[in-house]
Amino acid sequence: MPSTVAKKTAATLSQRMLIDGKLCGATKTLEVLDPATEKSFATVPDCSEVQLNEAVAAAKRAFDSWSRRSVKERQDFVGLMIERVRGNIDEVATLLTREQGKPLAKAVSEINAALFFCSGYCDMDLSPEIIRNTENQRVEMRYSPIGAVGAIAAWNYPILLSLWKLAPAVIAGNTVIIKPSPYTPVATLRVGELIADIFPAGVVNIVSGGDELGRWMTAHDGIGKISFTGSAATGKHIMRSAAGNLKRVTLELGGNDAGIVLDDVDPEKIAADLFDAAFSNCGQVCAGLKRLFVPAHMEEAIAANLAKFAAKVKVGSGFDDGVQMGPIQNVKQFNRVNDLLSDAKSAGADIYFQGQVPQGPGYFVPITIVRGARPGTRIVDEEPFGPVLPIISYRSEEEAVAMANDTTFGLGASVWGKDIDRAEAVAVRLDAGSRWVNQHPAMGPDIPFGGIKESGIGIECSVHGLKEFTNVQVLNVKRN
Ligand code: NAD
Repeated sequence: MPSTVAKKTAATLSQRMLIDGKLCGATKTLEVLDPATEKSFATVPDCSEVQLNEAVAAAKRAFDSWSRRSVKERQDFVGLMIERVRGNIDEVATLLTREQGKPLAKAVSEINAALFFCSGYCDMDLSPEIIRNTENQRVEMRYSPIGAVGAIAAWNYPILLSLWKLAPAVIAGNTVIIKPSPYTPVATLRVGELIADIFPAGVVNIVSGGDELGRWMTAHDGIGKISFTGSAATGKHIMRSAAGNLKRVTLELGGNDAGIVLDDVDPEKIAADLFDAAFSNCGQVCAGLKRLFVPAHMEEAIAANLAKFAAKVKVGSGFDDGVQMGPIQNVKQFNRVNDLLSDAKSAGADIYFQGQVPQGPGYFVPITIVRGARPGTRIVDEEPFGPVLPIISYRSEEEAVAMANDTTFGLGASVWGKDIDRAEAVAVRLDAGSRWVNQHPAMGPDIPFGGIKESGIGIECSVHGLKEFTNVQVLNVKRN
């Protein structure tokens, strides 16, 4: 780690926003806590409504000339951004671990993944599609940018979520105002500082603030689209608030993903993959495995193998050697996960396995495997978003599919089986935007990702994700 980074994180950090190509503070500030120590380590600007208006005005001013550049030119700007962030990855990763809690190596992986997805957008084509081209007529469909768009992110993958929006937004020809979560704004603001001189003024704006700032953005008449990642409850508010000027919305919301294990698997062989599916990022993954359905006669073997694997995982500060899992990101979520566990115990469920956590401060929740909780219990019905996994037994595939689909969510789902054809046949019966076989989750820059039901509206990633940042316009020419 460069010594400057170590020095910077030792004292209180003070990050700035990027508005109209300039870095700035605000009259009010927000404290950002390190979830492993519960201590404030940074202050960030609390963007005022006046400053948001300035950012929107700057984004609108920049739109005309930015949108007239070719897609290739805009992709080249994003390429420069990728190189700049890559060149400063250790510093950004350190901030990410400090604010989010994830182990440093995982913070580096998150940033690398974000840059990989941005590169994917740099290879995509947005040329008009010719629908008819005859002697008498030419009809084409053009993908036109929308204008100034707003991007609002959650706290579980701050850099990935922000860059998943920034790259397609600007490549499609829009200008953007990005708002990270108030729990994790620091690394994103630092990216803004690093890239401030790359884009023309106003093309990329990064503002920090609380939920109120999000509400101002979604109600703002100068913003033509909101791309949001966060909870289903907030997604519903955004949809209502966006109605004022009929903003386009992409909503990537929560999930309560099911995994169905079929009876031909070897429980020992799948334990490591099942563990990662459920407990990566301390269980704070929108499309993480959150309900595991297993054949009744295999429940003990699957639970025992998972527990054997979980017992080896070291939980602690993301900066400590050998740590594979950090704390929950914030106290609200920490209390929620503990509430769900207490409720499961009161409902008679068995806390089958619970791992070790460091003593002292920090929002640490032990890795927990729960048995005996049935649908109707909160830990099964609600998205936990923490390192807890209920294992639910089934007696027939029909019952497993019915229980898996019995949720208002529809983000991801998986089936685990040796006979791939059989697993696939079960997978396609699951009501989810992504159905995976023998993996969970699995994403790529060329693979559309999005939720159905109350897990969201619209797509991120792939050329479909890029087109979400456009309006379809038709050009219909009658030839004489
Ligand atoms: P959240 O909805 O509380 O907050 C998300 C963002 O919205 C924050 O930046 C917040 O300040 C802002 N916000 C809050 N209220 C707002 C309002 N009324 N109007 C506009 N903006 C508002 O979510 P969270 O707790 O930060 O994130 C956890 C949730 O995000 C989980 O449900 C998780 O599954 C989901 N998530 C989904 C995906 C996905 O791609 N589908 C990815 C990551 C997280």
